[in-house]
Amino acid sequence: MSQVVVVGGGVAGLSVASALARRGRAVLLYERETQLGAGSSAKSAAIFRLAVEEPVNVQLALRGREIGRRLSPEGTIRALGGFYPCAADDERQRILEAAAFTGVREARPDELPAPLGHRDRPALFSPQDGAIDVHTLIHGLAREARLAGAKLLTGTAAEALDYSAGRVAGVRVASEVVPAEVVVDATGAWSPDFAPTDVGIRPHRRHLFVLDTPHASAFAQVVWDLSTHLYLRPESGGLLVSPCDEEPMPATDHVPTSSEAGSLLFQKLATWAPALQDARVRTVWAGLRPLTADHRFVVGFDPRVPGLFRLGGFGGHGMTAGAAAGELAAAMLCGESPPEARELDPARFARVPSSCAP
Ligand SMILES: Cc1cc2nc3c(=O)[nH]c(=O)nc-3n(C[C@H](O)[C@H](O)[C@H](O)COP(=O)(O)OP(=O)(O)OC[C@H]3O[C@@H](n4cnc5c(N)ncnc54)[C@H](O)[C@@H]3O)c2cc1C
Repeated sequence: MSQVVVVGGGVAGLSVASALARRGRAVLLYERETQLGAGSSAKSAAIFRLAVEEPVNVQLALRGREIGRRLSPEGTIRALGGFYPCAADDERQRILEAAAFTGVREARPDELPAPLGHRDRPALFSPQDGAIDVHTLIHGLAREARLAGAKLLTGTAAEALDYSAGRVAGVRVASEVVPAEVVVDATGAWSPDFAPTDVGIRPHRRHLFVLDTPHASAFAQVVWDLSTHLYLRPESGGLLVSPCDEEPMPATDHVPTSSEAGSLLFQKLATWAPALQDARVRTVWAGLRPLTADHRFVVGFDPRVPGLFRLGGFGGHGMTAGAAAGELAAAMLCGESPPEARELDPARFARVPSSCAP
């Protein structure tokens, strides 16, 4: 039977590999790092967020939570609740329209954590949001994929696509051709380097800090300020915090940190939560968020490269929705036409119509 080759062993690649194998397809996945999930999936803040503006993301997030429940009896989400201070009336309204059915509602000022400055600003509360158990999600998907017969090869890069008769016919690995009926590009932030056509995916660096502070216990929920652009959640006795920096940069293996992100964080904290100004930085890292121009995911066949399926552009929502997007991709690869497919179609970025492989 002809096989599907998946390139990239993050949450999206592992999910499509597992779903295809469980549907009886032969699947070979390549991950160039020695560990599965070592790309952006290992660098995330692991916040499960239903309070978003795009209805399709809410649907995929809910399905992602169901996938977690299939992988582990406890599921992969620890529900903490999430507050979303947001000054813009229209943005709050769009979130309520997309997610009110999940319980998202206006928050009362006295509900917000006491150390926050300006608690009287409008805010939303999402009771089901929380923290994702990334290890269980990644390794659960990998276990499921292997049990269904998928081969997952780590420490092995797919160097390039291979073409025959005007379509993708496989990938080149260690200078050998590995044949494939379809190649799935699940390379995340590295997609612009791997795939030959532009589907609008651009890596953007973001920093995360773990802060030690005596005020950590005052923050039992996620707090994501959509106006100040800063978020935090509890993390191993401290707080995981991001200043929501968003800097375009080429994809790189080891994303360097910048001292400017720390300055930005403490500058924001000075008015946002003055009590946190004296917090000590326990650790800091940076990762790449693969953003698209319209901040929507990319799931579908590349209209300019027959045989190449694109699965990416998850930006800051991949740990929440990437597993469900992988299952959506598997359904499409098995000939189904799920209703969400049209708005995630990579064709929206295809500037030059072409039926020929480059
Ligand atoms: C700082 C930060 C905070 C975030 N916070 C959140 C959050 O709170 N909630 C949330 O839902 N999401 C969050 N995200 C986003 C989330 O991490 C990503 O959307 C998600 O990890 C994308 O998954 P992926 O499978 O598409 O990509 P990745 O996990 O990056 O997987 C792609 C894989 O492809 C491999 N690869 C690349 N090229 C090749 C090749 N040629 N051959 C073989 N393998 C290759 C890479 O090594 C990598 O492992 C955050 C991201 C960052 C950086």
